[in-house]
Amino acid sequence: MSGSRRSFFRDLASVVASAKDATAPPPEPEPALPAADLTEAEIERYSRQLVLPEWGAAAQLALSEASVLVIGAGALGAPVALYLAGAGLGRMGIVDDDAVELSNLHRQLLHFTPDLGVAKAESAAAKLRFLNPDVVVEPYQLRVDAENVAGLLEGQDLVVDCSDSFATRYAVNAACCAARVPLVEAGVLGMSGMVMSIRPGRTACYRCAFPVEPRDAPRCADAGVLGPAAGVVGSLQALEAMKLLTGMAPAIADGFLSVDLATAEFVRVRTSRRGDCPDCAEV
Ligand SMILES: [Zn+2]
Repeated sequence: MSGSRRSFFRDLASVVASAKDATAPPPEPEPALPAADLTEAEIERYSRQLVLPEWGAAAQLALSEASVLVIGAGALGAPVALYLAGAGLGRMGIVDDDAVELSNLHRQLLHFTPDLGVAKAESAAAKLRFLNPDVVVEPYQLRVDAENVAGLLEGQDLVVDCSDSFATRYAVNAACCAARVPLVEAGVLGMSGMVMSIRPGRTACYRCAFPVEPRDAPRCADAGVLGPAAGVVGSLQALEAMKLLTGMAPAIADGFLSVDLATAEFVRVRTSRRGDCPDCAEV
């Protein structure tokens, strides 16, 4: 941080402090971190999130014991995987059957020009291990479908679906509902997107919100997508995953967040469970 910015924040803090009631009791001392459960290196690596009242050591330990499956190592999968690995997730499976292409690089931040032709799952795993060697990263070079998705869910505490097809989303939603594995869904196109958290059996699932696949839905390759739009939506997905795994804040459940980055409008759309939902009604 530059000297001028540092002094700005210092001045701002002193103004805020002087505005407080001088008779107010002194603030409570910061709770000590349970050093017995976190190593010195972990305390330093995660210090900026550990000091957050919403996070703290309990959330850190919960994240370190969690297993998450990230489906897709592309535009959404990149911020999801990077933030979860950076934050100290215990184990991450990352699934993708594609290889890195030149047209991916403007938005898929896990892959660099020297990675062209490399399997995305392997390219992603290599970067994530560089970022945080304490995370166990398991790459799976395969295409998720209705046949294999149930097996992939075994042992997972959460799934983050970063795929780009409705067929995959419906297959993942159905399998997560059947296995009662929490799920974060999202989609991005152009400069807009959506994010939705699902607790099977407790909150509306993806099919409750979107009972049928939209007709003639445009594809990324045809309609285009801006890198920062995918970054925003993927970052929201990562945050939802951290909320669901730790309980640090309420997730976007029983509805979804609609994000329009052209107008900078974020709209919370409510929905509820459907009694006739083929995926979650019996869960
Ligand atoms: Zn449902």
